[in-house]
Amino acid sequence: MARIADKLAVGRTLSFEFFPPKSASAQMTLGRTVAELAPLGPDFVSITYGAGGSDRHRTADVVGWMRTETDVEPMAHLTCVGHTRTDVAALLVDYRRMGVENILALGGDLPADGSTQAGDYRYALDLLADVAATGCFSVGVAAHPEVHPRSPDRAADRKHLADKLQIADFAITQFFFDVEHYTRLVDELAALGIDKPIVPGIMPVTNLAQIHRMAKMSGSEVPGWLVDRLESARTDAEAKQIGIELASALCTDLIDAGAPGLHLYTLNRSEVAKQIRVNLGSVLV
Ligand code: FAD
Repeated sequence: MARIADKLAVGRTLSFEFFPPKSASAQMTLGRTVAELAPLGPDFVSITYGAGGSDRHRTADVVGWMRTETDVEPMAHLTCVGHTRTDVAALLVDYRRMGVENILALGGDLPADGSTQAGDYRYALDLLADVAATGCFSVGVAAHPEVHPRSPDRAADRKHLADKLQIADFAITQFFFDVEHYTRLVDELAALGIDKPIVPGIMPVTNLAQIHRMAKMSGSEVPGWLVDRLESARTDAEAKQIGIELASALCTDLIDAGAPGLHLYTLNRSEVAKQIRVNLGSVLV
């Protein structure tokens, strides 16, 4: 069973997110990380797409490598930015040839340096419609529990997400740190008649400076209690353990709240994800 929609239909999923490496040494790190995480039996792994479409070939290269050299099931991220409909059609044909069955259809962001022009697609919904129309892929979309920074208000954010989920099979969320953000999102979608699986994305935090940067871009709040806990660490090793502990607790809360799966942002490292899986034990089954 390769399609994520089918996997979600039969039970809770565990998945990991990677980004395409930009150097030979980063490539070796990713290879090692995938080899170390594969024995945990992830239901799928996802590979991001560079801002502005800059990493298009890198994403496809990693996905192709996973199909031929590993047993993990890849999902390719794809964004609107800078792409014509013809580009996307050609890329989807390549993915079909590789045997890829899962795509995450995203809006994407224009790069800060303005190096990429807007393409034929404005919103993820437009891209999603073209991917879904092929009938060849299980398609997911992004959800933003704390509301996307470009949404004028919460109601508009939820309406646009509900429109996407009329077509898509599932959503994966932006990271967040309080389980209430997730439960509120699920309730708001239910009120709009949407009951498709919403898989929470979990970002284990081991480095405060890095998470502040990421949160600024994504619109996620870094709560004071999390900052206090991490600032109490005397060493990097201690900070890592605190990050693992907090992410494991959030995962447990999400499972208790009925989450249909857990999607861990790995930043291409295996240690933290492996430890979280160990901590979850049979809770995840
Ligand atoms: P959209 O659904 O297009 O929404 C963007 C904004 O437009 C929202 O505010 C929405 O409310 C609004 N909107 C939507 N439709 C309409 C409409 N018809 N009229 C008016 N407003 C509308 N980025 C990358 O570059 N590469 C990646 O690989 C990547 N992976 C991601 C994975 C996950 C799980 C998540 C949560 C995000 C990821 N992102 C990635 C970031 C994402 O591309 C950005 O957050 C982007 O700004 C929004 O993407 P979206 O798919 O939600 O866009």
